[in-house]
Amino acid sequence: MKRLLIFVLILSSLFCLLAGPIESEIVFADNQVVDVPILMYHSILKSRRGQYIISPDDLKNDLLWLKEHGYESVFVSDLINFCEGNGDLPEKPVVITFDDGHYNNYYYAKPIFEELQFRATINIVGNYSEYSTSSGDIDNPNYSHLTWEEIKALQENEFFEIGNHTYNMHNLKPRYGIGKKASEDYETYKKNLTEDVTRLEDCFKDKCGFTTNIFAYPFGKYSTESCEILSSLGFKAFLTCNEGINHLKKGDESKLKTLKRYNRSGLMTTKEFFKHAGMS
Ligand SMILES: [Zn+2]
Repeated sequence: MKRLLIFVLILSSLFCLLAGPIESEIVFADNQVVDVPILMYHSILKSRRGQYIISPDDLKNDLLWLKEHGYESVFVSDLINFCEGNGDLPEKPVVITFDDGHYNNYYYAKPIFEELQFRATINIVGNYSEYSTSSGDIDNPNYSHLTWEEIKALQENEFFEIGNHTYNMHNLKPRYGIGKKASEDYETYKKNLTEDVTRLEDCFKDKCGFTTNIFAYPFGKYSTESCEILSSLGFKAFLTCNEGINHLKKGDESKLKTLKRYNRSGLMTTKEFFKHAGMS
């Protein structure tokens, strides 16, 4: 019996030497793969519901559901760090995004996110925020957009970060989102797209004191050309409207080019929405 025990001990220590515990840990970290659902919200209103409008109660129910099911919210910038090989993600991460920069995000979502300690990335349309700021038509949850001052406050708040959703390309005509017009050659398109998104970056820099490398495609419209142009400007993460879960690998930046998101329609209940997103 004693001999058998010694034999087992020798065998197991030999195995440890061969396997090399440090090496196996490094291999695991390099190949770390995480599934990340990204949720896309827009407007939050008590008076109406729609495909892009949910009630504050439903928003709170969503966050409580995520908490109960063990999800931990992270920023889009955390995904960038992970895909660049820096920083880790929790076991069950979720990313929450708000598009278009509605003032009601500040009015309804901010207190809920602070209370439940959730994070969100808010994607701003420059001319909407400029209009609200300069016209003074502010602080109405039904139609106002975030002012530059509110955007600055959100970026400085530990539960929020800001992304770029174009300055003035959030339109269906004359071009669809940032799509290239049929009449434009590549160089003209590159110049127009660059001028537009840089204009919003300049507003962020001059009026709010930060810049962002997160870009949300208006109406989810993108192309290989647009990704190439925006990447050359320094953008690193791109949010589409294609639905699906993101399978991210540590150190692999390729998936950041077309991050998938589930639109949170206000016409669904919390349960229906998470079932639709395949989350449990
Ligand atoms: Zn939008």
